[in-house]
Amino acid sequence: MNFDDHILEVLWSEDQISRRVSDLGSQICADFQSRNEVPVLVGVANGAFVFLADLVRKIRLPLTLDFVRVVSYGIGTVTSGIPKIIVDLKLNVLGRHVVLVEDIVDTGNTLSILIQYLKSKGASSISVCTLLDKPSRRRVHFEPEGEGKYYCGFECPDQFVVGYGLDYAELYRNLPYIGVLKPEIYK
Ligand code: 5GP
Repeated sequence: MNFDDHILEVLWSEDQISRRVSDLGSQICADFQSRNEVPVLVGVANGAFVFLADLVRKIRLPLTLDFVRVVSYGIGTVTSGIPKIIVDLKLNVLGRHVVLVEDIVDTGNTLSILIQYLKSKGASSISVCTLLDKPSRRRVHFEPEGEGKYYCGFECPDQFVVGYGLDYAELYRNLPYIGVLKPEIYK
């Protein structure tokens, strides 16, 4: 079985992703260098695990790392709209600068809930670093908190994409590129 045959179109190759992740790492480095505080990067599992692993190696600063796990999709391609935090932070973020690391922003529900949650835990700033953003699908407005910034890798068209951590029914996360899944796979 060859999973490459399930892909309609490759949107971003391994090389393109790698270059963009390096840029994002450099931007984060430049922004945090002057603050003299160790940021905590919080990956939104499972989708952000590949991006986070590559991103942290492009940030040449001391940092700490944690994960939250949020469920919103089940096994379909359409969001249920009610994300739930099912695995909580282990680190204390009180007074810390947090960078939320996400694979893709779609309706904005997940990030808006996570930002509120981190705020309630006393984070002193909350930045968001997402590899992909589908602005045409936004339903909920969110903003970074305090001195936090918004970092985005690529603007994504309104299509269901997989690879580089992104799944369909828990598959395709290990593809090294990001592509559009053939609709007949999920119909
Ligand atoms: P939101 O809460 O912003 O609607 O959704 C964010 C989550 O939806 C992402 O973390 C991701 O899990 C999922 N998602 C949104 N669009 C896509 C897509 O095109 N492909 C995949 N695999 N997941 C998506």
